[in-house]
Amino acid sequence: MAFIEEQTLSESSLDLEQKSIYEIYKEAQQNNLSIKPFDIFSYVKTINEIRLIDEYLEDDISGIIEKFSNYYQITLSKYHSQLRRRFTLAHELGHFILHKKYLKDNKKIEDNILFRKQSNTNHIELEANEFAAALLMPKLEFEKEIKDGNNTIEKLSSRFQVSYAAVKYRAFKLGYIREY
Ligand SMILES: [Zn+2]
Repeated sequence: MAFIEEQTLSESSLDLEQKSIYEIYKEAQQNNLSIKPFDIFSYVKTINEIRLIDEYLEDDISGIIEKFSNYYQITLSKYHSQLRRRFTLAHELGHFILHKKYLKDNKKIEDNILFRKQSNTNHIELEANEFAAALLMPKLEFEKEIKDGNNTIEKLSSRFQVSYAAVKYRAFKLGYIREY
């Protein structure tokens, strides 16, 4: 049973993110990285300013990004599934790309459950989520999969290597479903 029906898309407000995402894809291709699903781990390892580590973080913490004097450290939870870790890493990369000013002042962002909240009004967290969703599930590719009949949560999750929650979030943002 298809949970996502084809319908007219409303233009989303991802212009800013799309621009950096286009550049990221170009760089990834130059480094011969997988684009679909997007090899977020290998891509982040090509960025000299980022150190990536794994830790047994507290239960509800999925990731942390911290600014040190000459590098940014991203910590991912060892407890979480690889699909969740992929999204968390893309989310932290969003902070790295979009929120450097904020990180300079505040040094550290600790992220908990990323999809708790339609009610979340923290625009930095919303932007990082939108960035991550757009990076791992590019709009045109997402539309293409649905047109090709891969219009279930399970299939989309498998194609893009993201959790069901992430698929629902992206489908919601692109206007395919009314809530997530
Ligand atoms: Zn965050």
